[in-house]
Formats: sequence, C-alpha cells, structure tokens
Amino acid sequence: MKDLDCLIVHPTTRVKTRSPTNVLTNVILPMGSIAIADYIDRNGFSTEIVHTGLEEMLNPSFTIEALFKEYTPTVLGIDLHWYPHSYDALRIAEIAKNTYENIFIVLGGFTASCFAEELLQKFECVDAIVKGDAEIPMLDLLKTLPSQDLSSVPNLFYRENDSIKQSKKNYCPSQEQFDSFNFHRISLLRNWYNYLQLTHENDDLRQKLKRQGWLCVGRGCAVNCSYCGGGHNAQCLLTGRSTPLYRSQEKVIETLKVFAEMKISCAYCDFDPFGRKTREYYFKLFEMIRKEGIDVSTQFLVWDVTSKKFLEEFKRTFNPLYTTLTLSPESGSETIRKLNKGFYYSDSELFSWLDLTKENFIPIELYFTTGLTGETVTDFRETVQLGKRVVEEYPNIIHIACNPIFLEPGSPRFLDPQKFGITLKFSKFIDFYLTYKKFALGVPVSSRLGYETEHMSETDIIRFANYFNDQVYALTH
Ligand code: SF4
Repeated sequence: MKDLDCLIVHPTTRVKTRSPTNVLTNVILPMGSIAIADYIDRNGFSTEIVHTGLEEMLNPSFTIEALFKEYTPTVLGIDLHWYPHSYDALRIAEIAKNTYENIFIVLGGFTASCFAEELLQKFECVDAIVKGDAEIPMLDLLKTLPSQDLSSVPNLFYRENDSIKQSKKNYCPSQEQFDSFNFHRISLLRNWYNYLQLTHENDDLRQKLKRQGWLCVGRGCAVNCSYCGGGHNAQCLLTGRSTPLYRSQEKVIETLKVFAEMKISCAYCDFDPFGRKTREYYFKLFEMIRKEGIDVSTQFLVWDVTSKKFLEEFKRTFNPLYTTLTLSPESGSETIRKLNKGFYYSDSELFSWLDLTKENFIPIELYFTTGLTGETVTDFRETVQLGKRVVEEYPNIIHIACNPIFLEPGSPRFLDPQKFGITLKFSKFIDFYLTYKKFALGVPVSSRLGYETEHMSETDIIRFANYFNDQVYALTH
C-alpha cells in the first residue's frame, strides 16, 4: 500500500459492446490535471495520477477495486471535465467510499462545475466539488482538510453536516499565477510513457511511432458557439474568467523543451481564442520556437481562418512529419455557419484560405457537424456538396469528417434551448449519468445526443453524419 496525500484518477469512459472487451473512449487526460498534480506536489503533498483506461489497456484484468488496494490516499480527486465521464467518475467515487474508511472525495472540471449542487445532492459518495480552476483550491483543500471548516477553500462546494455549502472565496488565476503552473510533469501520471505512445487522437489507443504531447497554451475563449460548453459565457459562469488567458511564450517554450527531452514528436495545440482578430501571440511563439531550435511537429487547431502570414510562419516553424492544421467549418451553409459559430467565415474566405494552405503544402483536417441550430436537410446537402468539393480540389486535405453534435452542459443551447431551436432530452446531471451508465452496461439508451432540433430528429442527426462520412470521407481514401 502506498500512502499518498492525493490520488488523482482519470475515469476513462467504458462502453460495453458485443465483443468480449470493453471499448474505452475519451481517453485524453485534461491538461489541468497535470498542473494540479504538479502544483500540490511541489508544495509538499505527495501526488500521483492514474488513468483508468490506460491501466485497463496495459492490463486487461485491471479493476478499480484492485487499484485501491495499492494506495491509501487522504484525498481522491476525480476529473469530471467532459460529460462522457459522468458515470465512470461517480462509479469510481462510490467504490472509493466503500473501500476506504476516511477518504475525502473531490470532483472538478467543467461538467462537475456545471452541476456542483446537484452532484452533492444526489451522490453521497462525493464530499466536495471544485467549481472552476482548481490548482490553488486543491492545495488549500489539502492544507485545510484536517479541520472540518472548509469555508476558506476557494471555489469549493462541500457538505457541512446535512447541508451543502459554497465557499465565499473565489479564485481564477492571474497571469502570474497561471505562469507559475507547470503542464509538463507528465511523469506524475502512472505509466506516462505509454500514455504518450498510445493516446493520440481521441479513442485511439493503438501503438504508433508518433509520440504526442498536449500543449497548454491558455484557457478561455472570446466567443460563444451555440453548441460549445467552453465558450466565453460558460467560462464566465463556471470559472469567473471574463477574457482568455495565455501562458507566457517563455512558459510554453519551457514545456516544449521538456517535450523534446521526452522524445515527444508532435505537440497537440488547440487554443485560438480570438481567431483572426489577433494572432500576435503566435507570431512571437513561432519565432521563439525557431530561435530555440525546437524540432517538433504539431497538430494545430485554428478556430477561424488565418492570414497568409500565419500560414507561412507556421510552415517555417514546425517539422512537417506529423504537422497538420485543423479547421471546423461545421456546415456547408453560410447561414447556418453564421447562426452557430462564434467565428464566422464565408465560403469564399474558406476557399481562399484553403488555396493558401495548398500553395504552402500544409496538410489540412476539416471537420463538419450535424444537429446545428436552424439546420435543415437542404443545409445538410450543402455540407455534403462543400465536403465533396474540397476533397476534389484540395489534395492537401488529409482528413475530413462529420460528427453529430452532442449536447454540452453549459453551452448556449443547453442554457437556452428555446432560443436555439432545440428540445432537450438531458437537462440535469442525472440524465448524462444514466445515459453513460447504460453505455457502460450495454443497455439501450433512449437518447444519445441529449436533444433534437426543430428540423431534425436525433436519428436524422446521426444518420446524416454517417451519410457524410460514407459519401465524403470515403473519397479521401
Ligand atoms: S471557438 Fe467556439 S467551439 Fe471553440 S472554444 Fe470558442 S466557443 Fe467553443
């Protein structure tokens, strides 16, 4: 048994299928877990992260019960950032409560933040929720815990006797605090070496030569896409962050240097909170990467089209081996794009941008979706047409796909379904929990996406996405 002050568990989603082994999905660890673990560890509290999906993959007979026989933690932290972990996070919390006599169980992440009160009301096994950013609250919690009074721990929802309390103290990191966090101590994750080797894109646990690291560049977003639970308003509501926060370029370079020591060949980067309005931050970062001689590929997601200068600087900076740029136009209809996306670009802007990427030989991944607000069958046909056209005209498109939108807690359409023309099938945490429980048990569910729109049933939304992939994705192979 290993004594630990804090054990952090990533509750990989498990889906039961007809095959003898479970399917493991949503295998990416939130980057914040690394920063939290590092921060509390550096401040004198022993910490380790365990990724249940990774453990299960390395050892098919792995169980949570067996894991808890290896550790005796004072605090168990479980990330509930993404809603697909709704069931597994609580399943693990329940097992921990039944295993340990005196364990304190705390959940955090966007989904936990969105449903903090409901979680404490409905799940006795949960002792507290950190709503919003959690580095300093987790440290304060560990320092405070021998006492019963948790009111001084910022961002905390907790139990006191039979009632639920919310701490009056708020925390949202300042620039200085944010830059004091480290996102590169991946070694705090058990079997971290395998994590880098085995987890690339979501749900992909096959071993490859490519080693991928997740690069934290910042937090937040300046806009509100109708379907996104991480947009500007959600950030304000859940974390108190009113404007996006970048890490200093120096800190990002520090992370990339550690990535190089870990032989990470591709840095996944998904932070572009102002779109084309300003990308000055990246011009400086790219220049520093070149100056430091950091040799790395990137899977880089832009949230808006970019300038020619951006593409040229991007191209000059990264090793081409695994480098790709990703953009998500979402719809082939300009009207629907405008209605749903915080960063709007017309078809003609999209094609001009694709022309530039072709001239610069930059591999592109494009993503579309179904189930958007206002989207009709006619709009979807435009999506298919656009998809076919770009595949035919741009040989640098290496991947194109369409995924149905799943309902995200805290998104504009979740908070105001009527305004966004949808009918909710999930409105509380328990709806997400029960759905993912059924997935885990292999029981049929009444809703997968959590909503339907005024123009499309849930079946249509899923069927159209599949149709796009059959018709368009197939053209790329
Ligand atoms: S650009 Fe849209 S999808 Fe991306 S984080 Fe912002 S609100 Fe979410």
